[in-house]
Order: sequence, then C-alpha cells, then structure tokens
Amino acid sequence: MAHDVAADTAIGAALSGMRVAIAGLEYEGNSLSLRVERRADFERMGICEGAGLLRAAEGKQLALAGAIETLRAGGATLCPVYWTKGGAGGHVEDSFFTEAMACIVDGIAALGALDGVYLAMHGAMICAVEKDPEGAVLAALRARIGPDVPVAVSLDLHAHVTPRMAACAHIIVGYETYPHVDAHRTGACAATLLLRAMRGQIRPVTRIRRYNAILPVLGGATTEGEPMAEVAAQARAMEAAGRALSVSYFPVQPWLDMADVGIAGLAVADADAAAADAAAQEILDAMWARRYAFELPAMTPAEAVRAALLREGRVLLIDAPDAIGGGASGDAPALLAALLAHAPQVPSALCIVDPAAAQQAAALGTGAQAEFAIGAWQDQRWFTPLKVHATVERLCDGEFVFRGGPVAGATGRLGPSAVLRAGEVRILVTSHAVYEHMDEHYAACGIDIAACRLVSFKNLMNYRKLIAPGTSWIALHGPGGTPLRLQDVAWQHRRRPFWPADDTPAPFPLPG
Ligand SMILES: [Zn+2]
Repeated sequence: MAHDVAADTAIGAALSGMRVAIAGLEYEGNSLSLRVERRADFERMGICEGAGLLRAAEGKQLALAGAIETLRAGGATLCPVYWTKGGAGGHVEDSFFTEAMACIVDGIAALGALDGVYLAMHGAMICAVEKDPEGAVLAALRARIGPDVPVAVSLDLHAHVTPRMAACAHIIVGYETYPHVDAHRTGACAATLLLRAMRGQIRPVTRIRRYNAILPVLGGATTEGEPMAEVAAQARAMEAAGRALSVSYFPVQPWLDMADVGIAGLAVADADAAAADAAAQEILDAMWARRYAFELPAMTPAEAVRAALLREGRVLLIDAPDAIGGGASGDAPALLAALLAHAPQVPSALCIVDPAAAQQAAALGTGAQAEFAIGAWQDQRWFTPLKVHATVERLCDGEFVFRGGPVAGATGRLGPSAVLRAGEVRILVTSHAVYEHMDEHYAACGIDIAACRLVSFKNLMNYRKLIAPGTSWIALHGPGGTPLRLQDVAWQHRRRPFWPADDTPAPFPLPG
C-alpha cells in the first residue's frame, strides 16, 4: 500500500510527546510438526526487552524496524517493551508463551497512559493449550488498556487471523509479498495508520472474512504471472480507489490442524465497518476464485533426481514436504537416499538437520571416514535414519547473517554443523532447523552451490530467488511435516467440508 510516510514525518511536531508502546511476538506454528519450541529456541534468534528491542531492529528489514523508523520519524515517543522472533516449527511451549505474553501485556500496562500500541506478530503461532496465542495477547492487552487506545499489528502473509485478533486490534496489515520481501514496508504501513489514528485523522476499524479453505503454499508466489500477484494487484487497486485504508489477504499457514483455520480477506476502513466488511469479502473471493491455480506439479525424490539429470544446468531440488520454513523437522533423508542411489558421482549438496551426526563428525574430526546414520532424527513417522559411509570434509559453527527476506541482517544459527561427503554428494548436517533464505547456510559451511549440479532446499518459496538462466527447479512430493497434497493429510480437527478435501463450487464460510 502506498502510504505517505513523508507527510507523516512532516507533522511530527504535532505528535511530540505522544507515547507508543512497541512489542512483538513472531512465530509460525505447524500442527503436523513434532518440533517443540522452547525459550532456548527463541533465545537463538533473540529475546529483547526495553531499549534492546530498538538496538535489535537497527538496520534490519524486519517489520519491527519499519514500524520503529516510521513512528520515530512521525515524532512519537517510543516505549519499547518486549520482542522475540522465532522461526517456524511445531507448537510453542505454553510456559514460554505465558511468559512472553506477560512480558508484553504487563509491560505495556505498566507504561501508564499511552497514545498507541504497535505489535509485530507472525499470526500463526500455536501452543499445546492456547490455539490462538496472538488473539490471547491482544485480548489481554485490550482488557488492560481499554477500548480506545489504537493498537496496530503487522502480520505475515501466512497468518491465521482469528475473529478475536480482528476484534481487539484497530489496525492489522499483512505482508503483500511471497517470497516475503516487504516485512519492513508492512511494519511501516501499520505504523503510518497508527500515527494517523493517534492524530485523530482516522478512526480505523478492521474486519475479516474467511472461508474454510487452505491453499498449497508452493503455488502462492506473488511474483508476476502467479495467481497471488493478481490478488495483490486487486488489493492495491481497492486501496487506490479509496475502498479501504488497507486491504490484506491471508492464504494462511495450511498445516494447522484446527477447526477454524482458513484463508482470510482483511480490510481496515475509516470509521466504516460496512466498507471494511465489503473489501475483506471481495479480496477473499479473489483468492478463492484462483484456488485451483495454486497446485503445482511435483515428483517423488527418485523421479526428481532422474529428471534433473536429463536437464542442462543446475537444478534445485525442493524438498517441499520437509520445509523448515513451514515448520517441518528438516530431517527427512528421502532425497539423500535418492541422490546416493541415482547420482552418487554428480556434484550435489543437501542440508539435513541431525545434531547426532554433527556431533559424531566433530568427535571424529576432519578427514575421518565412518558410517553415519543420517536423518529422521526427530521425526520417524515416515522415515528411519539412512546409513551412509562418508568422509568428514569440514566442521563449522553454523553462524551466518541473512542477506535478505524478512530476517535480513539477523544472525542464523545452525549450531555445530559438519559437511560430510559420500561420493560427490555433500551433506550438510546441522544441529538446529533454521529458516532458509537463499544459500547463506551452505556458504557459511564452505559449500559453494555454484559448483553443484544438484542442490536441495527445504523451503517453499525463497529458492525462487536463486532461479536464473541455467538454473531450474523441481518440487518433490511425499510424506512429511509440510506435505503438498493437503487433501491427503489425516486431519484430526478440521471441520468438514473444507477445500481442497471437499471440492464443491461454493465456498464454506468461517466465522469472521
Ligand atoms: Zn509466511
């Protein structure tokens, strides 16, 4: 959306003395994942309190940074409280969530009179007990600060936006893009609307509309020619036409096994709930109308390796069912087995989470040869560890700086890691499952993907940043924590009918 940040800056003096609380809780859950995220997992990415939050955001492309810069430029007095950003995984331990929520809610309430609140959230966190953590934080906050203080929230495109969240926040703005390249701008947009609300120029109301439908993440790119690009263009046109202050679309994190998870349209309008409702409905229908276009072709690991060998140039093998960025364990050895069976002498690289193998390599030392049992370290529902005779080529600490995306400038920590070599297959074994942006994790451990004919990635979209002349990609399908075929998942809690399991022409509304 095209907000006039410069105009807001110009009236900064008018806001002098206005106090804005800033906090955040960012994490993407996945019900199919066995990973449990604890305090230590959030500490690796950073838990910040008070002024530490401002330092953590400095120079980053985070939504938090965009909001801070905008609020500061607008002349507001910043009151930083608490912020943490995990990656994606299974559920968050309730004890940590309770602690984080208390830090945010009690911390903001302790500030006394406030003119506004900004919160950076992903919007798809789940805990073992609390299934709507963001809604719980916003409701608790609203109970403490009253109904009138404007609250603005920025969310990931894959947020599971609940009616409670929409009821408790005056302003919600989601990322426009996937791959996510606009986190900073999203934070700035939410903050710009917050500034206008604090100034009394607008009285924002947020409404959502939802359908009981989930869409394959792999087909959700907003780049030109993709179905979501049309949805994005429609949202921007609606804003330009004055239909709403902000229009967002949420194709939703699909691997959430809960009764009321579905795609959502959301709009913020100026004191006009009916306009917000209508805009939310229109953008929701734009997504629904394109649902079939989200399904992309995919192959089994063996088919993919054989097909890749018939192509010219470098081929990226996308291990979609084990996507760390979608919350999977990142420890599936299926593609490794296919590479060793069909292309052992083809220069290739693959990353797999296996702290035991990394530890074994460290104990043996560089140059040692041994048999390793690789993969299925955390998740043995579909695979067992794969026995591989390999050489320890390199040991590394696994630290790197993200070069782009919503975490640009932040430090990634794979933990103690090792490069094992079997034939010409290089296997990067890591201690932690870390969000993949581009090839930073490989480069940090000495693997130059330019020298590889086949390279594996465990993400669902960022790999597209590596597509160039001479580089193509093939997606894999199969079992895992982030399966492509959503209709085949053994859902326990989803309400029927839902798309794509129930394929009827009419959508199935969820409470908005
Ligand atoms: Zn996302």
